[in-house]
Amino acid sequence: MISAQKSMAAFTSFSFLRNYATTGRIVAIVRASPRLSSSPTSINFLTPNHSRRYLCRASPTHDEEAAAKAAAINADNGAPTIFDKIIAKEIPSTIVYEDDKVLAFKDISPQAPVHVLVIPKFRDGLTQLGKAEQRHGEILGQLLYAARIVAEKEGILDGFRVVINNGPSACQSVYHLHLHVLGGRQMKWPPG
Ligand code: AMP
Repeated sequence: MISAQKSMAAFTSFSFLRNYATTGRIVAIVRASPRLSSSPTSINFLTPNHSRRYLCRASPTHDEEAAAKAAAINADNGAPTIFDKIIAKEIPSTIVYEDDKVLAFKDISPQAPVHVLVIPKFRDGLTQLGKAEQRHGEILGQLLYAARIVAEKEGILDGFRVVINNGPSACQSVYHLHLHVLGGRQMKWPPG
């Protein structure tokens, strides 16, 4: 989905892949030596309507693309998502970090030895990053900082990746803004 030619703006050791308006996907990378050891993440819960494969693969199938398109149709109907149930503790999750604004929990379908989702507890219209307004600046910063806390807690501060899938062309499947914090293995570039 993302090719090498996508623009990248580096600041300190932290760099963002931009162009999400084009690709629908934003990736932030901390370039450093990756931790090669793996710590298995647990799979705690799977609803009947959710497959174990959420993130689009490097070469997503038509089914995956179709599922992402279908998810997008109801993106802004205001209905609760599975993440609301996790926030409400109605379904279990493995919480890595929590404060009054942010919740971070292990992804049910990990794409790396460390795969944690960081979400705002109050969605406030942020079904996806593309819906962000200026008033969301504070929570967006808090989410990014929480990603850093998660990386430290998970022992991957020396090398990790932050991904936001935005919209069907990026295979976003849950319409409640979330950052994927990935690490514990060597990341490749370009991502799929
Ligand atoms: P995205 O495809 O970017 O919208 O990412 C949604 C993510 O939510 C996927 O990586 C899923 O594996 C994850 N996910 C869905 N349901 C759960 C759940 N019950 N617990 C933890 N992660 C989940």
